Amino acid sequence: MAAGLEGARNAAPESLGRVLVLGLGVSGKAVVRYLLPQVGSRVSSLTIAAGSADEATRAWVEGLRGPSVEVRFGCETVEGAWDLCVASPGISEFGELYRSAQACLPADGEVISEVELAWRECPADARWVAVTGTNGKTTTTALAAHLLRAAGIEACAVGNIGDTCINAVAAGTSQVYVAEVSSYQLASTRRFAPDAAVVLNIKPDHLNWHRTHENYAAAKWKVIENLSRRPGAVAVLNAADDEVRAKVRAVKAVPDEQRGFAYVPVGTAAGPGGDMRAACGSANAAFVGADGVLRVALRGQEIELVSVDELQIKGEHNVVNALAAAAACLAVGADAEGVRAGLRSFAPLEHRIEPAGTVGGVACYNDSKATNVDAVLAALTAFAPAKPIIMLGGRDKGTDLAPLVDACRRHARAVVCFGESLPRFWPAFERLGAEGVPVARARHMADAFDAALDLAQPGDVVLLSPACASFDEFTCFEERGDAFKALVARRAAQLGA
Ligand code: ADP
Repeated sequence: MAAGLEGARNAAPESLGRVLVLGLGVSGKAVVRYLLPQVGSRVSSLTIAAGSADEATRAWVEGLRGPSVEVRFGCETVEGAWDLCVASPGISEFGELYRSAQACLPADGEVISEVELAWRECPADARWVAVTGTNGKTTTTALAAHLLRAAGIEACAVGNIGDTCINAVAAGTSQVYVAEVSSYQLASTRRFAPDAAVVLNIKPDHLNWHRTHENYAAAKWKVIENLSRRPGAVAVLNAADDEVRAKVRAVKAVPDEQRGFAYVPVGTAAGPGGDMRAACGSANAAFVGADGVLRVALRGQEIELVSVDELQIKGEHNVVNALAAAAACLAVGADAEGVRAGLRSFAPLEHRIEPAGTVGGVACYNDSKATNVDAVLAALTAFAPAKPIIMLGGRDKGTDLAPLVDACRRHARAVVCFGESLPRFWPAFERLGAEGVPVARARHMADAFDAALDLAQPGDVVLLSPACASFDEFTCFEERGDAFKALVARRAAQLGA
C-alpha cells in the first residue's frame, strides 16, 4: 500500500489506478461523482459499464465523457484491464457481469462495493456503526443516528436508507457514519471494519441474488469479519433470532484475546426480556429488565435507559431495534442521557407500523414496508392484547405461508387477502374462516381496505402489512403506503371521523 493518504484515511492508496464502475444506479452515480475529479491524479482511467439506461441517465453520462473516461451501455459482460472495480449492489456476485469484471483484474485486484470504497476513503478517526439484518435495518439505522445526535455527536444515516456512504464521506461533516448495509453491499466488502456492527436477524430472503440462503447469511456475516482490526469494536447481535443466536454461541466459544472484539447479545431465545449474562454468562448484554426498563451492560457498567412504554415505536421487534441501536451508540461513545432522550423522542418511520389515522373509531396502520413474512409476524403481535384486522397481498414472493397462517390464527381478528397473490394466498388463508377468524378477499388494495372496514368494530385496528411486494399495483412500497394513507383520509372524511 502506498504511503500518502494512508494513515489519514482507513485504506486509501495514493493511486487507485484504472477503475471500473459497474452499474449506474444511485450508488454507481455517487461513486462516479466521487472519482471523476480524481481522474488524472489518483485515478488513471475511469470506465463506467452500465446496463440499459433511461434517458435521464444517458443525458447525465453525456457530460462525463472525456479523456480517460469511457462509458459503455447495455453491458452483459465486460472486457478490458482494470485495477479496481466498484460494483453496484444490484449486480449479483454470481452473475455474468460481475464475474467478467473479476476476470479483468490482476490477481490482487478487487471488486468492492460502494460502502467498502467509502469506508476506505474515510478519515481513520471517524467512527462507523453498520446495521444489517433481513428486517429492521432502516428503523435501527435511523434510530441510531437519532440517538447519537441526541447525545450531541455529529452523525448521519447513510447507505440504503438515504444518502450514499461515499457522498457522506466526501462531505466529511460527520463524526459517526451509521450505515444501513444490505447483504448486496456486504457481499463485496473486503476490509470494511466498523466500530459497532449490528446484526438484527437473518431470515430467508433475496434468493435470486444470492442463489442460496447460505450465501445470503455468509454475506451478512461479513459485517463482523474485520472487527478485530478496529480497536474497541463491538458486535451487537440479536440473540432473539435463531440464526443470530447460533452465531453468538460461535463467537462466545472463541477466547476474548483471539476474537479481538467484544460482543453484546440483545435478549435471548426468550425474547428481549432475556438477559444473556444470566442465560449463559456473557459479560455484556442488552435486555429489558423485569421492571420493563431497557438496559445495556457494557464494559463493566450496567446502564438503565427508558421503559418500554416510553418508546413511540410499537412491538417487541422494535424493542429489539431500540436495544440494538442503544448498545451500538453507547459502544461508540454516546452518553446515556443523550441515548435516553433519543429513545423517547424517536417517532415511527413512514410505512413501518405507521399510524395512518382513524375511520369511525377504527385505528389504521400503514406497514407497507412489510414485504416479507417475517416482518408481518412482527407486526401482528405489535398491538397485543389487541388483534389487528390484517390486509395481506400484492406481488407474491413465493415464501412459505404456513408460519403466517398460523400467526394469523393466533393474532389476527380477521384477514383480508388481495391483489395478484390471491391465487396462492386465498386457498392458504380461507380455511381460517372455519376456525373463527373471519376472512375476506378483494381484487385491489382499495377494495381490501373497504372489506377490512366492513369487518371492523370501533376500537379495532386495521393493519396494511402485506407480506408481498407492491409491484402488481404500485411502483414501490412507498407509493402503496401513500395510497393506503390517502384511502384512510378519504374514508375518514366521508364519515366525518
Ligand atoms: P429493512 O430496512 O431491513 O427493510 P425496516 O426498518 O424498513 O427494515 O422495516 C421493514 C419491515 O420490517 C417493517 O414492516 C417493520 O415493521 C419490520 N421490522 C422492523 N424491525 C424488525 C425486526 N427487528 N424484526 C422483524 N421485523 C422488523
